Amino acid sequence: MKKITRQGLDVLVFDQLNHQLKLSHGLSLRHQIDPFNQKTIDFNFSSDTPKRSLKHQQWFCKALALDFNQRVRVQQVHDNHIINANHPTTNIEKADGVVTNQPGCNVMLIGADCPLIIVYDPSQHAVGLAHAGWRSSVKGISEKLIDSMQSEFNCDPEHCLAGIGPGICGDCFEVGQEVVDAVQQNSPNDQDLFKPHNDRWHFDLIEFNYRQLLRSGLKESKVEKSGYCTFEENELFYSYRRDGQTAGRWALMAGLL
Ligand SMILES: [Zn+2]
Repeated sequence: MKKITRQGLDVLVFDQLNHQLKLSHGLSLRHQIDPFNQKTIDFNFSSDTPKRSLKHQQWFCKALALDFNQRVRVQQVHDNHIINANHPTTNIEKADGVVTNQPGCNVMLIGADCPLIIVYDPSQHAVGLAHAGWRSSVKGISEKLIDSMQSEFNCDPEHCLAGIGPGICGDCFEVGQEVVDAVQQNSPNDQDLFKPHNDRWHFDLIEFNYRQLLRSGLKESKVEKSGYCTFEENELFYSYRRDGQTAGRWALMAGLL
């Protein structure tokens, strides 16, 4: 990923996706101070500052040249349900993945340690985003995202470009036996992603999702990892594990042009 500045706002973009002329995407960076309240950019909608959060969404949309009024939001619940944003409903749906092939459906997901995933198929001009915490990942969220893009828009995984956004890294993400058991049950070949750490484990969630994308048929050369650890990079990212309940949220947004 690299940092670019749009409309005065620094955002991270994936290198390959940034070359796609019919796609706009970006990930917010914590160090940005808004001109309205002098607060760092934050998409924690459940916080006590909903008005500020809305202003930050407008600010971010403007930087990405995406229409704020056509943004698609979901309630992320750490499961593996994927929705098609071409069929909007008035309610905010519970989902951890969103796909669309319709320009103007501007999808926004948020995170605070869990990596956010983006997949774009330039041939079918379709995009999908997923929120890949460990619970969703154990249920195959990245594989389901590709399945959805195939079934909804006839995407070919070989044509797809993907980015795995910043997240807590394999040396920082401490987990208990319940995660080991869940991976053992659902994806036994990925047990090597755990390393013993005191009486618990370290788990490489980023690599876990990377493998899911490759298993779905994506080419290695077309999947980009951000290289950022959100737990270690305090200046750039919020981290639930580091900052606790009051942690802010960053956003990944994408829209077709
Ligand atoms: Zn780390």
